Amino acid sequence: MVEVAEIFRLHGPTYREKFGNRMLPSHLRAMQDIEQCRTASLGGQLYYCAQCDQQRYSYHSCKNRHCPKCQNEQANEWLQQQKDLLLPTHHFLVTFTLPAELRAVARRHQKTIYNLLFRASSAALQQLAQDPRFVGGRVGMVGVLHTWTRQLLYHPHVHYLVTGAGLTDDGHWRSSRKNFLVPVKALSPIFRAKFRDALKQTELFTQIPSRIWRKDWVVHSEPVGSGQPAFQYLAPYIFRVAISNNRLRSLEHGAVTFAYKESATDQLKHCTLTAEEFIRRFLQHVLPPRFIKVRYYGLLSPAYRQLLLKARQLLSTTTSKLKSQEVKTANSLGPLSCPHCSGPLTLLAPIARGRAP
Ligand SMILES: [Zn+2]
Ligand SMILES: [Zn+2]
Ligand SMILES: [Zn+2]
Repeated sequence: MVEVAEIFRLHGPTYREKFGNRMLPSHLRAMQDIEQCRTASLGGQLYYCAQCDQQRYSYHSCKNRHCPKCQNEQANEWLQQQKDLLLPTHHFLVTFTLPAELRAVARRHQKTIYNLLFRASSAALQQLAQDPRFVGGRVGMVGVLHTWTRQLLYHPHVHYLVTGAGLTDDGHWRSSRKNFLVPVKALSPIFRAKFRDALKQTELFTQIPSRIWRKDWVVHSEPVGSGQPAFQYLAPYIFRVAISNNRLRSLEHGAVTFAYKESATDQLKHCTLTAEEFIRRFLQHVLPPRFIKVRYYGLLSPAYRQLLLKARQLLSTTTSKLKSQEVKTANSLGPLSCPHCSGPLTLLAPIARGRAP
């Protein structure tokens, strides 16, 4: 099976030779981590399988948040931590997309523009949800930044998981309709205006073509079910990297082929790129160091833990379930088993970094 790590190991050296002096340290770091993930260079553990009468090696993972091999592990951990944030109500997935005309500026000023994208979209949605025609209270939101299309092109957008109900100022719980949160036609201009006001405070404002303030900004909303299933729906979004290994089809003669679903038709297509172009596309989705790509707002924001507790109290009197409900993850890692016979493994010894056994 082809892996991003293999593409980097084979074609990374040429890429770095050509572009290395212009590459960001975070990009070099991501390449190195992905290349070394679960190899002898990171060390690991030595096991023994009694059924095969053989030694087995298990190497440490790199834990880089851009690594395709580490994403499942992280999604499962995150899901476990969200248990206290679950509200037994219906949820929506609301997506805000940065207009194409802003992408060039976003690429050069990633931190500023990504922060503005979060700030403007979260404020717009919270404001409209406060309207008594829709929710009429403070909703809870968790958002994640993505920067890619399915063909790995640069396309920043934020997905929010939003509670379809909120807490009113006088401490009541109010619900939206089951299949409708807020009108996106009304949300879009509020998002645009808030982004514009915030951008005006920066020196970037004059670099932006003024026509974007007159066009429609893309906002999408869909219902995604309630409580735990809603978080389970979001978890893969949160830890998704630009491309997962299972979409890679081949690596031959310096060309990478991967599968993607065409949004318009929902059909499975293939895209073939030179290894160099593949690496370039992959790396443009490496986020600035320490950039917070998952953010909590409203009832789910750490600043409002008291309100969240209040909301859970109110809900426990109206709904009886969920309390004891356990968050079960889709493919949590069981105890380590032998890759050949699936039998149990006995730990023999740790393997030091960089020392191949
Ligand atoms: Zn990794
Ligand atoms: Zn996305
Ligand atoms: Zn075995």
